[in-house]
Amino acid sequence: MDFEGFFKNRLEDLKAEGNYRVFTDIERHKGNFPAATRHEDGDTHDVTVWCSNDYLGMGQHPTVLNAMHEALDSCGAGAGGTRNISGTNHHHVLLEQELADLHNKESALLFTSGYVSNWAALSTLAAKIPGCIVLSDEQNHASMIEGIRHSKADKHIWAHNDPEDLDRMLSEMDPDRPKLVAFESVYSMDGDIAPIAEICDVADKHNAMTYLDEVHAVGLYGPRGGGIAEREGLMDRITVIEGTLGKAYGVLGGYIAASTALCDFIRSFASGFIFTTALPPAVAAGACAAVKHLKESEIERQRQQRNVRVVRGKLAEIGIPTLDNPSHIVPVMVGDPVKAKEISDWLMANHGIYVQPINYPTVPKGTERLRITPSPVHSDADIDRLVTALCDIWSQCALHRKYAVA
Ligand SMILES: *Cc1c(COP(=O)(O)O)cnc(C)c1O
Repeated sequence: MDFEGFFKNRLEDLKAEGNYRVFTDIERHKGNFPAATRHEDGDTHDVTVWCSNDYLGMGQHPTVLNAMHEALDSCGAGAGGTRNISGTNHHHVLLEQELADLHNKESALLFTSGYVSNWAALSTLAAKIPGCIVLSDEQNHASMIEGIRHSKADKHIWAHNDPEDLDRMLSEMDPDRPKLVAFESVYSMDGDIAPIAEICDVADKHNAMTYLDEVHAVGLYGPRGGGIAEREGLMDRITVIEGTLGKAYGVLGGYIAASTALCDFIRSFASGFIFTTALPPAVAAGACAAVKHLKESEIERQRQQRNVRVVRGKLAEIGIPTLDNPSHIVPVMVGDPVKAKEISDWLMANHGIYVQPINYPTVPKGTERLRITPSPVHSDADIDRLVTALCDIWSQCALHRKYAVA
């Protein structure tokens, strides 16, 4: 076989569809985020980042950075091993305690990323619990889907955020088989939020375990940043809460929080936990400082929510079509992959505004969009520049507006 030719042909197909991904090479500057420098063909340009998952700017917070510097200088660079073979650093232990406390669970277990935590925890639970059936929300993240697939357990997909559909499915199943209901709180592309209480009611009725991905909610919602389940007083109804340290907490890593027995089970049986080097101690220390800080501090959340309201309000005023949702994610809908990329390129070239176009397979075809994530560190001037630029390109391209500009 002509392997090279095969690779190139598949990539040409992707380009023809408008779905080929081009990475934007940026250099972030501590203290100046969302400002960054873009590198392109040997040149540099100033840009404002509008699509980061560093939702609260914790990636540059002095408390986080100081903790990382201290741990780096005291512990060195890497962990030096897997958790089992010399790699458990005291910073990992402290972070796990902090996370268990955050979610009011007995224990927590760290992984090298949120992706790995979902993959490892779901694949282990679904594979090792005899006869387990997994009920997965149809919009679950790739990391959950892959974990469930890898388990080879029976899987049923319920309609997105639809407890009635879940109930109907569970009612048709053998009541004696163990069941696991997997879903997210904030869905990152549409920004909609699951009806957690109703889903828990259905799960309880059928004796099913619940597994909740709070990746886009931890740090951001709830009085201590414990997520939507904390905000709604539901943490004790969820069997496993999963989160990331790489988004609102601004560092890197993933985790689950659950009972001591469940965490110990995953610790003992999950290949994706056992056979990989532990996170660098400085990373664990930085994440721990971020979690601690956001347990106490409301100012970042308040300022972020204020900026989300301002951006939404201003875009609505000029009729830019955003998807309405109750979260911090502002999806500007374009509906075409080529146009979404053109708009994104134009914003970058003419205004130094960086909003990555989101295309298939991240979102369904025909719902291509620009996903805007306002943060507490965007200024009012940043917001005005974004709104003016979007208004301009919408007029130039005669793109659909929700209503005419008055
Ligand atoms: C980003 C994401 C993950 C993975 O988290 P990482 O820490 O980035 O690996 C898991 N679940 C959802 C819903 C995500 O959006």
